[in-house]
Amino acid sequence: DLHTAYRRQRQMCIRDSTIIEKLDGQNKIHALEKAADLIKNGSVVAFPTETVYGLGANGLDEEACKKIFDVKRRKRDNPLILHVTNDEMVRNLSSEITEDQQKLMDNLWPGPLTIIFKKSDKVNDVVSCGGNTVAIRNPSDEIARFLIDKSNCPIAAPSANKSGRPSPTNAQDVYSDMQGEIEMILDGGSCNIGIESTVVDLTEKPYTILRPGFYTKEDLEEYLDEVVYDKSLIDSNTIPKSPGQKYKHYAPKTKLIVIKGNMDNIQNYVDGLGINTDEIGFILCEETATNVNFENVKIISKRNDYLNFAHNIFSYLRELDKLNYKLLICEGVNEQKMGISIMNRLKKSCANNIELI
Ligand code: AMP
Ligand code: MG
Repeated sequence: DLHTAYRRQRQMCIRDSTIIEKLDGQNKIHALEKAADLIKNGSVVAFPTETVYGLGANGLDEEACKKIFDVKRRKRDNPLILHVTNDEMVRNLSSEITEDQQKLMDNLWPGPLTIIFKKSDKVNDVVSCGGNTVAIRNPSDEIARFLIDKSNCPIAAPSANKSGRPSPTNAQDVYSDMQGEIEMILDGGSCNIGIESTVVDLTEKPYTILRPGFYTKEDLEEYLDEVVYDKSLIDSNTIPKSPGQKYKHYAPKTKLIVIKGNMDNIQNYVDGLGINTDEIGFILCEETATNVNFENVKIISKRNDYLNFAHNIFSYLRELDKLNYKLLICEGVNEQKMGISIMNRLKKSCANNIELI
């Protein structure tokens, strides 16, 4: 009956959406404690961070970490980021902290920056995938921090999507990928930043950005002499140094084309596709959207407003993906500053299907 069905679903997936009631302080603490208990008991819990939602487990518990890979259908050669709230935890997980690593920790943590360290023997092979380094981030999101502290362990967490899908930036998007597969989603509303952390390898020179994110090369060079982008970020024929960067990623099920160039040509371009415009879902910047008459347009941000673009991109791709369009068309951005990170995600989302118009 309905009641049993409901109870079964609830056992499989407790969607603890009440946690967004920021004013209801009591339930917030209760839900967080429940989540921390699950983590302590070796379960997987989805939780918000300032970047995207994470799929978290006790980072010191090898079996719990394996569950992350299973639930996500993640390849076993793609290591996990450990989330911490203080330097003491980093000292425990790394075999050394260099002066430059400490400099970034002091200046850019807590925040959307993942630093690669040489790992200590406390880091298990499931997290590091057998490598001798470990990725660590100290997130700024209040709920993430509370969960780590209450769980009393580093939390291993990749993005809370099924491998290959766009990262989830709200609890509902986690739910659509993870329904029935995890016990709890902490709902903290929509993530502030909306794209994943910058990953920088400081274990050897030249220091290398493995994944661009909120922090750009220029931001990091305020503290470090020289930082380079991993070659694969510039030349798509090079194999990425970071395992996670080599896989198909961030992709909607609907075919996606990213357009760049002169947006005055968009009407011509679309007319040439031979698809009715009402069968196309568009993600456009405000300046472009005001000059066209397409049926299904989502305005993502003003043209050089990378912060709002990043904040909206994954949720918009997921939203349009549900509407059964024949094609999605998304306007790209200039590859400067955080635009580099946005285009890094979009290139993967569209499998390099970029049209210069
Ligand atoms: P996500 O899959 O969203 O958690 O992203 C984590 C990213 O960090 C992936 O691109 C991983 O490949 C990368 N990563 C994690 N640990 C390491 C490591 N030890 N060395 C290099 N990249 C790492
Ligand atoms: Mg991911």
